[in-house]
Amino acid sequence: MSLDQWLAERLSNTKDAGLYRTLRKMEQAPGRTNIIDGRKQLVFSSNNYLGLAADLRVVEAAKLAIEGFGTGSSGSRLTTGNASWHEKLEGKLASFKQTEAALLFSSGYLANIGVLSSIPQEGDIILSDELNHASLIDGCRLSKADKKIYPHLHMEMLETLLKESMHYNHRFIVTDGVFSMDGTIAPLDKIRQLADTYDAYLVVDDAHGTGVTGETGIGTCERFGVACDVIIGTLSKAVGCEGGFAAGSRTLIDFLRNHARSFIFQTSIPQSSCAAAYTALAIIESDKSRLQQLKKLSNHIRKELVEMDFYIRGEETPIIPVIIGDTHKATQFAEKLQAKGIFAPAIRPPTVAEGEARIRVTVTADHTEEDINYLLHSFYLIGREMCIIQDAKIGSSK
Ligand code: PMP
Repeated sequence: MSLDQWLAERLSNTKDAGLYRTLRKMEQAPGRTNIIDGRKQLVFSSNNYLGLAADLRVVEAAKLAIEGFGTGSSGSRLTTGNASWHEKLEGKLASFKQTEAALLFSSGYLANIGVLSSIPQEGDIILSDELNHASLIDGCRLSKADKKIYPHLHMEMLETLLKESMHYNHRFIVTDGVFSMDGTIAPLDKIRQLADTYDAYLVVDDAHGTGVTGETGIGTCERFGVACDVIIGTLSKAVGCEGGFAAGSRTLIDFLRNHARSFIFQTSIPQSSCAAAYTALAIIESDKSRLQQLKKLSNHIRKELVEMDFYIRGEETPIIPVIIGDTHKATQFAEKLQAKGIFAPAIRPPTVAEGEARIRVTVTADHTEEDINYLLHSFYLIGREMCIIQDAKIGSSK
């Protein structure tokens, strides 16, 4: 059997299981609307939470840096790929996250892999929330430490596992700050307390919290007023750019610079990406109106959908999962939304648990009141048509 025949056979199994994935084409810059596969759609699925991915100031900063420094960095940071914009951005990230230092990676995925493959060692244990992002899971897989999974946000179970882990050399609690498919928030105050009680280190991936969560958007640590031992994040969501980072003490960053293989062996991101992210972070720091608007819209959508009797997961965040349950129904719901010009995809097993298929709505600060009303009205109509919500409980936005 040729390689292609073997792969085609496996792909056919993927299709039979309903798990075959295809790509959709966005034809415009990220924004509240886009042309998706040739049709104009209102986009309610983007991670561009603050609407900065096509902000003209951010674009201009990238353009200027390209003119000055070219399109590629030409090497890893430890060889010929370290430049002033990398260091400037790291300084900005450290001050934004209120840590001593920060280290850039090419993506959040690689930051998670770099941290988890280099810090926990054989003889240590990692305790990981069951809904952690795939990149944390892959990082755990690369580590020689033992691993145990605790049920999502289950603090009693986490405590039990910590008690049972006292014979390990070191304990690590690893969690997302904001969970990408559920919009839930890790209770970092309680987790920090457990970490202190049981002498464990706390590693938080705040990919979806950075710029969005907490009073000023610093992230989930700010939301709970706690310090984490390692904060990981991405520049690809609220910051609207690309790249990832780890933030923490100077010693942590020095260690990662020397031991994180996904840092050492990767070409650094171009200076234009750093200049763009630096500018976006400066906007996030100086203008809180986007953050306030985002919080207002997120809370409004949640409240209205709950009033209509939809079952919503999570709290506060711009990630609003509307649980449909049945996979086929969720797909149908997403298709009906698309027919109305709304792009909010169905998330199905195995990405989420069996019986928990959902429409994952994400809102951005760019959405208008009209966009939101149209979204809510469409949910109401489709929900009733598909008998997901009843007549009796109706929200205020029909
Ligand atoms: N962590 C979480 C929770 C994420 O959702 C993502 C992106 N989907 C990442 C890490 C990876 O970040 P990046 O896209 O920068 O690789």
